[in-house]
Amino acid sequence: MDQFHPPVKDMIFALREVVGKGDLDSNDGFEDFDREFLETVYDSASEIASEVIAPTNKDGDKIGVSIEDGKVTVPNGYAEAYDAYVDGGWSTLSCNTEYGGQGMPASISMPVNEMVMGANFSWAHLVLLTNSAIRAVDAHANDTLKELYLEKLISGKFSGTMNLTEPQAGSDLSVMNTIAEPTGESYKITGQKIFITWGEHDLSENIIHLVLARLPDAPEGVKGISLFLVPKFKMNSDGTLAERNTLKAVSVEHKLGIHGCATCVMSFEEAEGFLIGEPNQGLACMFTMMNDARIGVACESVAIAERAYQQAVNYAKDRIQGKTQSSQSRVSIINHPDVRRMLLSMRSLIEVMRVLVYENAFECDLAESKPEHNQRADLLTPITKAWCSELCQDITSIALQVHGGMGYVEETGAAQHFRDARITTIYEGTTGIQANDLMGRKFINDNGSAMNDLLNQIQTDIEASKVEDNLKSELNQAIKKARSVSEFILDNIQKDPNLAGSSSYNFLMMMGYLVGGWIASRNITAAKNSLKETDDIEFYNAKIISSTFYIEQFLPLVSSFGSAVFHGSESMMSMPDEQF
Ligand SMILES: Cc1cc2nc3c(=O)[nH]c(=O)nc-3n(C[C@H](O)[C@H](O)[C@H](O)COP(=O)(O)OP(=O)(O)OC[C@H]3O[C@@H](n4cnc5c(N)ncnc54)[C@H](O)[C@@H]3O)c2cc1C
Repeated sequence: MDQFHPPVKDMIFALREVVGKGDLDSNDGFEDFDREFLETVYDSASEIASEVIAPTNKDGDKIGVSIEDGKVTVPNGYAEAYDAYVDGGWSTLSCNTEYGGQGMPASISMPVNEMVMGANFSWAHLVLLTNSAIRAVDAHANDTLKELYLEKLISGKFSGTMNLTEPQAGSDLSVMNTIAEPTGESYKITGQKIFITWGEHDLSENIIHLVLARLPDAPEGVKGISLFLVPKFKMNSDGTLAERNTLKAVSVEHKLGIHGCATCVMSFEEAEGFLIGEPNQGLACMFTMMNDARIGVACESVAIAERAYQQAVNYAKDRIQGKTQSSQSRVSIINHPDVRRMLLSMRSLIEVMRVLVYENAFECDLAESKPEHNQRADLLTPITKAWCSELCQDITSIALQVHGGMGYVEETGAAQHFRDARITTIYEGTTGIQANDLMGRKFINDNGSAMNDLLNQIQTDIEASKVEDNLKSELNQAIKKARSVSEFILDNIQKDPNLAGSSSYNFLMMMGYLVGGWIASRNITAAKNSLKETDDIEFYNAKIISSTFYIEQFLPLVSSFGSAVFHGSESMMSMPDEQF
């Protein structure tokens, strides 16, 4: 059965004992978030996720969304789930208190995001993208726009979207051509956007589209892009809804997965919009939303991997097939070493991915009062987004494999997770774009300085960790490899202009698996520390086993990905196009 129970205990372990190093509430801004508080909040979020939202997941996939005359119909149970989420105040957790938010650090609300994503991946895009839109409006809009829109977005009365992509402008937004003509107080927005997540629906009273467009005479390329707030219904100055704006969804996409999510083609015809931030600074403003959404995609990668894992474990415990060396009678498949390999692979990866997502969000939170944390948050973001989303492809595929043939047919639900997960490496910047970002902006641009700081910290933490000596030496070898790969790239980029582009994926994956090893060593240390003062011995022993498994089985990939970089770009670039 495809049931879902958010792993609250694992989430609290990741956040408090590993990311917070056992002392989370001593950090500025985290004083109120002790264990008891977190347990209360997460237990009640877990209830709504598993009992209200999760049951809508399967119908969402089977029935999907449809559109007629611009009106989108959503699957059964979506409206009730939305109302329950909003009425429970879940949309307000990490939002500005001046506009009705609860002001929690984003890392504290991240487990709640993970729960709703695991419960219904398609549905949750609506509430989590709205959250990212709120951050962009809060950070960059003027007071008039904030007064009119923020409280309603935060309360969930309104929802938000992100409108970047056009048919000719996907990864490359420089050729985007939606236009914005000034009319005095506002702008007329005209153009077509594609792939807009939850671009149309009637779950919220109004939809606030954040749209990238060009002003007349704007410079060409990304330096000429501005950001606009374009509401589905115009607003009167007293906050009531006015007439419908001139924008509409013209179709919904038919997709491999996330059938229960309305991915719309949007048409804007002289729609009234308002400038957010300065003219021609739209991409920078949108990056507030995109960076938030990138960590969000990593979080959803953990969520869907966790759901697929839970289902695979249940199946492996129930399904009887074959005998083992030590048993004469037929056994459930969880007893076969190869099935245990699959289950532990999933589990050990999920446990390090979860910590990485929370850590990245924690660094962003700390950066709000201590700007020196920005560099680490920025360096981690492409690794967190791309590595977690790549791994969730593997994990949902392994979960399907555990089911054998029953995974390939739709009844069990394993196939849905596999299909749904496929989008995570594509949107919010493909893996290739994240790898370019890591290599160019985050590594080469500062001559490897932020990366060097990270490698130094990994080394220090590993030295101080409570990992067995043989594994410690493997971790040290992995750091050495990452250092030599980094040096090789910096020494050779002038000689080989294609080196950065041809090695960026391998570099990112190498760093992902290394950061995973660092986190596994911290998981082991945290679990060993907690074992001294707990009755919950099995929980912490299991953490030590799965993190040890990670170091044994996945850390060697640091060397594989790293070694590939040393071969440079020659074979990749020398194949003539016509020979492909
Ligand atoms: C279900 C779904 C939901 C979406 N939701 C939204 C949304 O809400 N709002 C929104 O604005 N957009 C949304 N998108 C669009 C999404 O962000 C883009 O599809 C994505 O950015 C990739 O752009 P593209 O599809 O044009 O691919 P392309 O840019 O054409 O890329 C094709 C391939 O080329 C590679 N590539 C391209 N340029 C480079 C480069 N410079 N270096 C290396 N490799 C490169 C890519 O990595 C990729 O593998 C959504 C898409 C989907 C499918």
